[in-house]
Amino acid sequence: MTVRVRIAPSPTGTLHIGTARTAIFNWLFANRHKGKFILRIEDTDEQRSKPEFVEDIKSGLTWLGLNWDEGPFFQTQRLNYYHKTIQKLLDQGLAYRCYCTLEELENMKELQKSNNQAPRYDNRHRYLTKTQQESFKAEGRKSVIRLIIDDEQEIRWNDLIRGHMTWKGSDLGGDMVIARARENSEVPFGQPLYNLAVVIDDVDMNISHVIRGEDHIANTAKQILLYEALDETIPYFAHTPLILNQEGRKLSKRDGVTSINDFREMGFLPEALVNYMSLLGWTLSDSTQEIFTLHEITENFDLERVNKAGAKFDWSKLDWINSQYLHKISAQELVDLLIPYWEKNNYLIDIDFDRQWLERIAILIQPSLVRLNDVIKESSFFFGENINYDDEAMLHMKQESVKDILELALTKIEENSILNEDDIKKIIKEIVKTFKVKKGLVMRSLRAGFSGKLHGPDLIESWRILNTKGWDKSRLKDLLNIL
Ligand code: GLU
Repeated sequence: MTVRVRIAPSPTGTLHIGTARTAIFNWLFANRHKGKFILRIEDTDEQRSKPEFVEDIKSGLTWLGLNWDEGPFFQTQRLNYYHKTIQKLLDQGLAYRCYCTLEELENMKELQKSNNQAPRYDNRHRYLTKTQQESFKAEGRKSVIRLIIDDEQEIRWNDLIRGHMTWKGSDLGGDMVIARARENSEVPFGQPLYNLAVVIDDVDMNISHVIRGEDHIANTAKQILLYEALDETIPYFAHTPLILNQEGRKLSKRDGVTSINDFREMGFLPEALVNYMSLLGWTLSDSTQEIFTLHEITENFDLERVNKAGAKFDWSKLDWINSQYLHKISAQELVDLLIPYWEKNNYLIDIDFDRQWLERIAILIQPSLVRLNDVIKESSFFFGENINYDDEAMLHMKQESVKDILELALTKIEENSILNEDDIKKIIKEIVKTFKVKKGLVMRSLRAGFSGKLHGPDLIESWRILNTKGWDKSRLKDLLNIL
């Protein structure tokens, strides 16, 4: 069998982490079985669908490295197919027009509620006569299309993640709406609903496996009835666990970031995010290995190893995985990734001229980066002639000998044009000897003087980086004026 899977997002919002994780599982499954991964945009909800969300979904998938083999296909361009199928179902007597008004449906619900019954459509228009239909039409009522659901029927499938699944027809809420009432007479039917469009598309696109979130399980039961009504082959189904927040509830906007673009802006690398997301609900047989590329996972991916239980989203694990990737990339790559953050913060840099200088900063701070946007906190003190001193650093300056230490350092800087590592080590030694102070005090004073903080990356390399711009001198001069 040729494996053909799809991701079918609705462009009613930006690419959500849950959709991206479903896309990863589909991509892995397709690639594992040398099949095809298809992108379909489910945009039949014309009021809520927006072209900018389509772009966001496409660029998010591309950024994550989830290239699709076919598509994007748009449901709004396939309305003819849905209309034809609706007509066929009507002609075969498997679907019918229901003329119930909203008010009637509301009353039905109220009555069921007061009788302690679950809300459902009571199928009252299933067998309307021609005359009844004509009189409803004459009243100006509009009609939706409903598919007949046999309450007695048992719907079964063997879910590739969850095993044997059984649903009762009676649990599906009565005959289901497959198309809304039409808005104008130019179209034969109103908006086709998700369950109908998805089945027609999956049939037409020869989808062999439907891999999607477990929130679609009830839809699967309804869709199987549609496959049967259309006399089409039912694909395999696999329902993936949901991504949960720390409280065990479905991860939502309220938990902060959920859109892939936000993760991107926060400084996660696509490889790291994909690595982390693939572990949300799936484990390798050797679960000690946690760092791998999509291609490495492909070799080992199978649906049997996808968990049934929901997967808790764990920021610290994502951070850890991201840091592993960040610490490994080359200085060149890192600089390319960091430049946009420096630019956004208006650090005046001439990217071409300062490239090598920036690379030195990148190498120096690389081990402290967890997310790319940490770059500002870690490297801000490298940029500009002057800096601000934090309270801790100012308090340190008040100590005895600190002014002397900095004065001598400034003299030494002025004596040498460019300082190399040995020069700096010598200067530090000389200061220790001259003032008979501890080396630690000298180092802390210099660090505070150059960076305005008592903590930071390697002092000698930091000093050298500032020295090439002459900012070690300008900073000590300014500082000594106020001490
Ligand atoms: N448009 C649906 C969604 O975004 C697709 C579900 C499916 O894969 O069938 O949830």
